[in-house]
Amino acid sequence: MPRAVVTGGAGFIGSHLTERLVHEGWEVVVVDNLITGQRRNIEALERDYPVQFIHHDIRVPLQVEGRVDYVFHFASPASPVDFIQRPFETLTVGAYGTENALNLALEKGAKFLFASTSEVYGDPLVHPQSEDYWGNVNPIGVRGVYDEAKRYAESLVMAYHRYKGADTRIVRIFNTYGERMRLNDGRVVPNFVCQALRGEPITVYGDGSQTRSFCYVADLVEGIWRLAQTDYHLPVNLGNPQENTILEFAQLIKEITQSPSPIVFREFLTPDDPRRRCPDITRARELLGWEPQVSLRDGLERTIAYFRRYLKSNTALPPQNAF
Ligand code: UDP
Repeated sequence: MPRAVVTGGAGFIGSHLTERLVHEGWEVVVVDNLITGQRRNIEALERDYPVQFIHHDIRVPLQVEGRVDYVFHFASPASPVDFIQRPFETLTVGAYGTENALNLALEKGAKFLFASTSEVYGDPLVHPQSEDYWGNVNPIGVRGVYDEAKRYAESLVMAYHRYKGADTRIVRIFNTYGERMRLNDGRVVPNFVCQALRGEPITVYGDGSQTRSFCYVADLVEGIWRLAQTDYHLPVNLGNPQENTILEFAQLIKEITQSPSPIVFREFLTPDDPRRRCPDITRARELLGWEPQVSLRDGLERTIAYFRRYLKSNTALPPQNAF
């Protein structure tokens, strides 16, 4: 039975990856400090599968007993609200967290996969974004703490690969949505869905003409799983190439939920909110034979059903974010 360490394994994507690994017959050690992850995301997996939870901040070096075959490094705040509220944790998990995860992989002779992000492209000047594009990042902007941490981490992963012989992979994850996103993480999917379900105004930032491309989490995890089987060390974009404006997205959620909520326009949360974002997934198609299978409507229906259940089952809800 292969044994993996998943840092950030109690987070949104990390918990879905953990679930996929155990379904493939793996044993998983989840390492999470729970500042944005949630133990409830993996409670059922801990009960039913060989999943061990270690409450640990990966910015501090980690010893794991026994064999480790794979380290998946997914720990990081990932929502703009989170990285505005936790700028230092975001910077240092990219730096020390990645170094510690790499050292663990080297020490154990394990393979390594790093969860990077489309934010390395910043507010891109090239569309769609392919892996060869170097990006347009504002290093001193409020989003810089996330973007530069992930860019530094990619450099570190490549240096470990080039100079220390680490067996590494890098996935650049574009906007992803699905079950287990945090209700109040401030990202557009939980915000719009919860606002629509509660009949509150749907808050479009700016004029809503900025675009994003939304990938359902099961599609993303399939791509990560396939990449994990390869020896490919350069970055690979994973995301859905279907691009929508945020206003279209708000209208779609309103329609699917049949919500009476009005759509209202608000100031941007960050001044350098990317204008357009859309992945070029040629590399993933050729290398992995991968492309998203779940349509936006289907994925949103599943996600909305999750949030509906969640809202019904929780009387004491965490407050909507303050932004
Ligand atoms: N957004 C919005 N209303 C919200 C939350 C987000 O209009 O309540 C916009 C945000 O300005 C951005 C897009 O939706 O243009 C995606 O935001 P998110 O925070 O989900 O992720 P990002 O891609 O910016 O990291």
